Amino acid sequence: MNTAPLLDAKNITKHFPVTGGILRGILGFVRALDGINLQIFRGETLGLVGESGCGKTTLGRIIALLETPTSGTINLMGNEPGCLSGKELRNFRRHVQLIFQDPYSSLNPRMSAGAIVGEPLELHSRMTRKEREEAVAGLMETVGLTKEQTGRYPHEFSGGQRQRIGIARALALRPALVIADEPVSALDVSIQAQILNLLKDLQERFDLTYLFISHNLNVVGHMSDRIAVMYLGKIIELAGTERLIREPLHPYTKALLTAIPHIVPSGKRPDIHLTGEIPNPLTPPAGCAFHPRCPLRIAPCDRVVPELGGEGNRLVACHLYTV
Ligand code: SF4
Repeated sequence: MNTAPLLDAKNITKHFPVTGGILRGILGFVRALDGINLQIFRGETLGLVGESGCGKTTLGRIIALLETPTSGTINLMGNEPGCLSGKELRNFRRHVQLIFQDPYSSLNPRMSAGAIVGEPLELHSRMTRKEREEAVAGLMETVGLTKEQTGRYPHEFSGGQRQRIGIARALALRPALVIADEPVSALDVSIQAQILNLLKDLQERFDLTYLFISHNLNVVGHMSDRIAVMYLGKIIELAGTERLIREPLHPYTKALLTAIPHIVPSGKRPDIHLTGEIPNPLTPPAGCAFHPRCPLRIAPCDRVVPELGGEGNRLVACHLYTV
């Protein structure tokens, strides 16, 4: 693993205004992301896990340069795309590609598979039509489809095959970073392993770097070298995958692992059961945002926000480790 990060996200915040009332005035702000610092290294898979609504998809979209943060900086391959605009930004976007959750809605039903996979090449390369057709045929075969299928339309493919088309499109421009946002959660369980294995094979073959986003720690654990756990707009624990699963520190991480005991070695299984819902991000709890659901809370938890701290690759935001 290189020491210089491929991606360095610093102090990212994202606030969405909430409007209402007769005049549709701004009633407040949802702090979808609150001071995120994250590095991704070339060749690794960084997993991002958390419940629905924790901000992980928003973070993925900001890293994919599809949304701008309210504050903070993204540095990708030594460049700050936040300083680019217009054509420069459009050109730079080729370096980071997204694989979407839903292979049903993310493909244009009026375009053939070949046109979908070839569209990024048409927009961003100077290939001739023939070169493009050859490249598309190669990409189709790379993801386990055939060049004979390039003329078919999305509705003629199964869910797993559609996700393969989405993956081929994402790879077309040989991106430095691929963001896979819940890439298997809309698929049948029997197909999920095939797509996960394909992503792993492609990573080895093309030396890809992944940000792998999922609510499912089981899937994230299978795919990732390191895992960042998110809760209500913050990273609350980050560690190498094996360490996070064998020795989770944050009570929320322990609760996620309690729900999937089979991935934890026996004798190491945590026993914290998650109750209640993730709080409304418009009115987050004071102190540690997890404190209303935390069975281990102590005196400062409902007043003082715990900072993410630790050493190297092992970080946690919890007063149990700092007080
Ligand atoms: Fe629980 Fe307190 Fe740690 Fe938050 S800071 S996870 S409330 S012990």
